[in-house]
Amino acid sequence: MRMSDVLAVNVDDGYVETQPGILNTELREYVARSGMWYAPDPASKDFCSIGGNVNTNAGGLCCVKYGVTRDAVLGLEVVMADGQITRLGRRTIKGVAGYDLAGLMVGSGGTLGIVTMARLRLRPMPAPATTAVAVLTMSLTQVELPQPSCPSSHQACLSSWIKKLFRL
Ligand SMILES: Cc1cc2nc3c(=O)[nH]c(=O)nc-3n(C[C@H](O)[C@H](O)[C@H](O)COP(=O)(O)OP(=O)(O)OC[C@H]3O[C@@H](n4cnc5c(N)ncnc54)[C@H](O)[C@@H]3O)c2cc1C
Repeated sequence: MRMSDVLAVNVDDGYVETQPGILNTELREYVARSGMWYAPDPASKDFCSIGGNVNTNAGGLCCVKYGVTRDAVLGLEVVMADGQITRLGRRTIKGVAGYDLAGLMVGSGGTLGIVTMARLRLRPMPAPATTAVAVLTMSLTQVELPQPSCPSSHQACLSSWIKKLFRL
């Protein structure tokens, strides 16, 4: 048994409840049908499971802006070493009271219990990324690069350099 079923997608409250065996990409595709987006995207997303992501606290390119798996885990169902099934965490974005036991489970590599359900934060599907490509008609060596003696405002210095470069 792979335990890869999605149990619920709650668009209004922005979360999905899933069994742990589903692959990261499978979950992303599933929630996309409801216009929602799951942020953590390890490079292994096509072949790693949500259970593995939770237990390694996986990140990915999007973690720079949206955080790692721990930031996406709202709640967990866990089978403890004595066979007890326990539910940890919350359904809401804010949940600050008491110990963060769901957060403690994240990244524990299965040493504290077996995750049988993960409640994960979703966001509305972002607009597709736009990529701009600029073709330069001059070589970079022809452009005066910012000097180390640049004034304290590097941003101003860089922006004047970019204006020169693109003849703005
Ligand atoms: C090619 C490649 C690229 C990668 N890129 C990134 C990256 O960009 N960013 C990043 O952060 N990481 C990256 N990783 C690491 C990746 O995040 C982890 O390998 C992945 O999250 C583990 O998922 P898995 O399904 O392979 O888990 P497994 O390797 O099967 O398990 C990982 C651990 O979690 C435990 N575990 C799994 N499921 C459960 C469960 N249900 N309950 C309790 N414990 C469980 C296992 O016992 C094991 O300790 C990469 C890995 C590879 C191979």
